[in-house]
Amino acid sequence: MLNYKILTAKNIYSGLGKPVDKSAMILQEVNNKESIVAIDKLDLMASNFPNTKIEDVGFAISPKLVNPHTHLDLSQMSFSPGAYSAFIMKVLEHITTGKRGLESAQIGLAKLKAEGINTIGDIVTSKEVMHYLLASDMQGVAFWEVIDPDPATAEQTFNRLVAELREFRKLERPGGMKVGVSPHTPHTVSAPLLQKIAALAKQNNMPIQIHVAESPEETQLHFEGNGPLMDLPIAYKDWQATGMTPVQYLKKLGVLDAKPSLVHMVNVTEDDIKDVAKAGCVVV
Ligand SMILES: [Zn+2]
Repeated sequence: MLNYKILTAKNIYSGLGKPVDKSAMILQEVNNKESIVAIDKLDLMASNFPNTKIEDVGFAISPKLVNPHTHLDLSQMSFSPGAYSAFIMKVLEHITTGKRGLESAQIGLAKLKAEGINTIGDIVTSKEVMHYLLASDMQGVAFWEVIDPDPATAEQTFNRLVAELREFRKLERPGGMKVGVSPHTPHTVSAPLLQKIAALAKQNNMPIQIHVAESPEETQLHFEGNGPLMDLPIAYKDWQATGMTPVQYLKKLGVLDAKPSLVHMVNVTEDDIKDVAKAGCVVV
C-alpha cells in the first residue's frame, strides 16, 4: 500500500514564484524515503487523497535557501558600514592580515549550512577555495574573479583565465557546484577583457556575475572620470570617463548579452532597469 502524508502550512514556497495560499504538499514514502508528489490547494489535496493524515507545520515550507552572492573567503572580516571607497580600503586592509582564504571560506560555509542554505553564488579568489567548493556538498556557482583594468594586458589575462577555467571545470561533479566567471566591476576590468570574458561565457553557457552600479562614486567615475574611486590605491590611473552609466557601458560592450547576474544595481536609471530586464539579466 502506498504511504501518503499531506503537509500544510500558512505559506508553501515551491521554488517557482510566490507562495500559494491555503496550499498543501503531498508526500509519498517509499523505502523510508519521502518524496514530494505534488503541491496544490489544500482542499483539492484533501479530496483527492481522502483518509490521508494532514499535518499543519505552521508558518512556511520552502526549499532550502539560496544566497546568490557571497564572498566566503572574507568571512572573518568585520562588518564595515560606510561609503564604497572606504569599504574597499577596509577590504584591502583585511587582506594584509592573511585572513582571506580557505579557513575563512570554511567558516563561512559552516555558517550558511547552519542557516539552511545549500545553494550559493560565491566569488572565489584562490585556487584552494575553488577546489574546496567544487568538492563540497553545496550547489550553485563558484565564480572565479578577474581583476585587470589595463587594456594592454587583456590578452595575457584572458589566456590565463581560459586555462584556469578549463582546469576548474574538470573538477565539476553532477549535483555539485558549477564553475562561473566574475569580472569584478566595469571599472576594474578593461573593456577588451570584459568583451572577451562575456563572449567566452556566452559561448560556453557559463554563469557570469559582475558587481555594478554599487555607489554614486561609481557613477561619478563613469561620467566625470574622477572622485573617491580614483583615489584608491588599486585605481587604474589611465581610466577614462565613459560618459554613460555603468549599466549602459556594460550594454555597449555586449556584456549584458551574456546574461550576467548583476550584483548591487542600486544606482541606476529607468533606462538601465529596462535594458537589464530586456537582456534577461538577474539582479542579486
Ligand atoms: Zn560582492
